[in-house]
Parts: sequence; structure tokens; C-alpha cells
Amino acid sequence: MKRDGSNLSYWQDTSQLNDHKDTVAQHDYDVVIIGAGITGITTGLMLQNAGKNCLILEAKTIGFGTTSGTSAHLNTVLDTPYYDLISNFGKENATLAASAAKEALTIISNHVQQFNISCDLEHCNGYMYATNEDEEKELKKIYDAILGVGLQATYVTDIPGPMDMTKAIKFEKQGRFHPLEYLKVLLSQYENAGGVIQEGVAVNEVKEENNRQKITVGDDHHYYADAVVYATHTPPGINLLTFKLAPYRSYVMGFQLKDEHQYPDDLIYDMQEPFHYFRKATYQDQTILLVGGQDHKTGQHPNPEFNFVKLEAFVRKHYAVRAVLYKWSSQYYESTDGLPYIGYFPGKKSKQQFVATGYSGNGMIFGTLSAKIITDLIINGTSEYEQLFSPGRVKPIAGFSNFISENFDVAKHLIIDRLAIDKIDGLADLAKGEGKIIDYDKHTLGVYKDDEGTLFALDPVCKHAGCIVQWNNTEKSWDCPCHGARYAPNGDLLTGPATAGLSVYDLKKDA
Ligand SMILES: Cc1cc2nc3c(=O)[nH]c(=O)nc-3n(C[C@H](O)[C@H](O)[C@H](O)COP(=O)(O)OP(=O)(O)OC[C@H]3O[C@@H](n4cnc5c(N)ncnc54)[C@H](O)[C@@H]3O)c2cc1C
Repeated sequence: MKRDGSNLSYWQDTSQLNDHKDTVAQHDYDVVIIGAGITGITTGLMLQNAGKNCLILEAKTIGFGTTSGTSAHLNTVLDTPYYDLISNFGKENATLAASAAKEALTIISNHVQQFNISCDLEHCNGYMYATNEDEEKELKKIYDAILGVGLQATYVTDIPGPMDMTKAIKFEKQGRFHPLEYLKVLLSQYENAGGVIQEGVAVNEVKEENNRQKITVGDDHHYYADAVVYATHTPPGINLLTFKLAPYRSYVMGFQLKDEHQYPDDLIYDMQEPFHYFRKATYQDQTILLVGGQDHKTGQHPNPEFNFVKLEAFVRKHYAVRAVLYKWSSQYYESTDGLPYIGYFPGKKSKQQFVATGYSGNGMIFGTLSAKIITDLIINGTSEYEQLFSPGRVKPIAGFSNFISENFDVAKHLIIDRLAIDKIDGLADLAKGEGKIIDYDKHTLGVYKDDEGTLFALDPVCKHAGCIVQWNNTEKSWDCPCHGARYAPNGDLLTGPATAGLSVYDLKKDA
């Protein structure tokens, strides 16, 4: 797997990244960064350029996480509507969030210019359209709040797509790019500046010892650093952020259209629940339409593959499709109050551990912003965005209703999943490539039959917080509905917050 799912994403298919598997000899660094997605690589480059000696440790391969599963719209109009941010954080802070998003987009543009990166970066407009009165009311709230935080938006009578609409707004100065082609060059700049990276190394533990951070990989291999950055998308283990993050899956498909003129230059969003997002992408003169949507909480859809059927039907209703070229899904994390958590890792003894998470669907922007904030905190001890994005912030009013409902879901899954487990008598009705939670001989098992017909039986209790994982029939993974840990069919850990794979039964022996 080149990514944390078995469907190939357009970005993986059109980008070649070199291996960085050689063991690193040096063990002492200024900063160790855990994770090589957009957050980790951008942070590494900024810190290295600021004079710090950095090591990036990646459990799997560069871009293995959501950075290869994204759709790479570059937005200053965020997924959390600005009216929510105004209500949760006040107008001044919501305006600061808008400035932060603008600054992140500028950082990306500057990198592209400075390093002459060919990554299909285009600055473009965003369009959001309504199709009925309720959506029009919502659109008006969104429009007013965009203006309220100092961004530009206008009502328009047309959108660059064939969809029926009743009202639409346009917001300028958005963008789109190819995330892996962008990161490939950032990484080589990082290495040219002396930065070090190693793939295939999962960090198991970070401990503070004599004012330094001791980073353990494998059973007994250590690195030391003054500071550690968790660029892991969701921080591992159970910590103060665990209950403030909710995992979601989103689905993207790539289409070749019959009519070349139908590829939109701009970004388009509808207002359905869940909403759809559109952009085009061009690689080596071939253009495709990327459409995403069908978002749902991780591990809480009975048939994830069916989301592609619905997405494709939705697209075919509007566009003349010549071919479906790609389909993939990936994961993002929502915070309880609509802004990500970026800065000092809450609950740690010293201020030498940093974390960046809870980006929703704006991680290209927030991953870049995290690099800026964390670099400023490490180099200068301060950032203008420190308070706003502080992972330790307490927002009882803003976060309260979400907090309750997110955790209600968790509690429900601990109990109901155990009771509602599919009752089948034997394993016979399991097709090749399929997985299932079953009751078998008084045991609850996660069972997977690979393409050769070999059976794997696992203990489906997630190693993170003890919930029962669910089979994801499109990405071929076991997904935890509580905090989003994901496992390969054979139980190997794909993504945190769990820190170990599922226990595997030896079928013959255990029988
Ligand atoms: C379908 C979809 C569409 C999206 N579209 C957009 C969009 O249009 N625009 C936008 O801005 N955002 C979008 N997002 C969000 C965005 O893609 C993500 O927020 C972003 O890619 C996260 O980057 P990251 O570097 O923080 O995490 P990741 O890319 O997930 O990287 C984390 C890395 O850490 C590694 N790791 C984890 N634990 C350890 C460990 N213990 N030791 C070592 N390494 C470890 C992982 O292997 C992984 O490679 C989308 C998300 C989804 C799901």
C-alpha cells in the first residue's frame, strides 16, 4: 500500500517519490518531527531553514496518510462556516482565522514560486450554490460572515458547472494544486538544507528525560531531541485531545468527461448534507474532474463502497462522463469547536512537545499554517496565532454540544456494536477479499478472507480505547468507529491513534 487504503488515489498514481528507508546514523537532533505528510514535511523545511537540525520519522512512506487521499483545494473559505467561528470565537478571532488561512495560502504560493515547483498550482475562484430556499438562507449566512471576517464574496447568477441552482456566491483568491508534486520538492529542499528523513520507522514512545525528549522506535532504539512535533494527523494514544476529535471518511472520484469545456477552472461546492466538492486537475496534459463528498463518521457506514455508487450517480446526473478513472476515500478529523488544535501538546510536562490536528477538510491550509505556528513557537517562543489555535484552549460554550454528541457516539459503539454483531454460524459465506465481524464458537472475531482464500481471524477490539472495529469494504481495512484508528486486513496498524495492530488468532492453534 502506498497509502492507508487499498484504492489508488490520483495523486499517488501521478507522482513518483523516492524511498528514504536507509537507517539514520545520527541520534541527536534539535527537533524530531513524527509523520511525513504535508504538516511534517512543511514543518521540517521551515525549521531546518530557521537553523534547526531536524529528523523526520515516518512510520510507513512519505504521504502515506491523508495527504495522498486529499482533494487538495486551497481555501480561505473554510469548511467550518465563518458564522460558526464568529459565534464560537468572536468576530476578531474569526477574522484572525481568515487571515491565518490567507497567510497559509501565500506560504504555499511563495514556495511554488521560490522553488519553481511544477505542481499544477492555480489560483482560482470558489463558488457555492444553493438549490432551494433553505440552502439560500444558509448561503446568505455564509455570505454575510465571509464579508464579516474581511474576505471578499459576491452573489453571482451563474456558476462554472452544469448544475441547476437558485442562488450562488463567488469568493476569490482560492487555489488548487498537486499535493505530492508540491511536497516532493519541499522534501528535496529540506534535505538540501541538511534535514534528515527516515521512512518505515514508527515512533512508539516519547519521554522527557533530563530536559530532552527521548524518542523510542522499535523495541529499543532511541533518538534524542530538544523538541518533538507530532505531525501524525491525529496524536497517538489516549490524551487530552482524544475526546476533542471526531474521525470522518470522505470519498473522491476522478472522471474523464466527454466535453472538454465542462472541466471547471474554479472550485465548486454544493450545500447538500453531506456536501459535494468539485475541482479539475491536470497532469501531463490530461485533465480530469475530481468530485468528492458522501462524508460520514468513520466506521459508521454499513457499506462504504456504496458511497462511490452514489457519488458517481450524482456526477453522471450533471456531467457527460466518458470514463471513471479513480476512486478513493480517506480520513479527516473534526475538532469540537471548528478550529484545529495547533501548538503545545496539552498535558505534557514541558513545552517541548507540539501537536497539529483537527483540520477538518482544510488540512492543506492548516498543515501549512501548523508549520508556521510551530516554527514560530520553537524559534521565537511566540506566535500571533498561538492563543486562537491553542490545543489546550477551553471553550465550554462553543464545544459543549459537539463534545457531548461526539462522546455519545463513542459510548454507543462500545455497547451496541457488541450486541449487534452479525450473527452467522460459520465462515462459509465470506467471499474472497471480504471481511466481517462474526460470532464464532462464543468468540467475537474479525474475519478476513484474502484473494487466495486464506482466512485471517483477529480480535476486533481496537487497541486504542477498546471499541469494536468495522470492516471497510472499499479500502479493505478495519476502521474503528470511536476515534478512527485503522488496521490492514491482517490486523497491522495503518493509522493511529492506536499504537499497535489488532491481535491475530492463529486459527489452527487456537481452534
Ligand atoms: C477525502 C478528503 C479530501 C480532502 N480535501 C481537502 C482539500 O481539498 N483541501 C484541504 O486543505 N484539505 C483537504 N483534506 C484534509 C487534508 O488532506 C488533511 O488534513 C491533510 O492531508 C493532513 O495532513 P497531515 O500531514 O497532518 O497528516 P497525514 O497526511 O495523515 O500524515 C501523517 C503521517 O504521520 C505518520 N505517522 C502516524 N503515526 C506515526 C508514528 N507513530 N510514527 C511515525 N509516523 C507516524 C503517518 O504514517 C502519516 O504518513 C481532505 C481530507 C480528505 C479525507
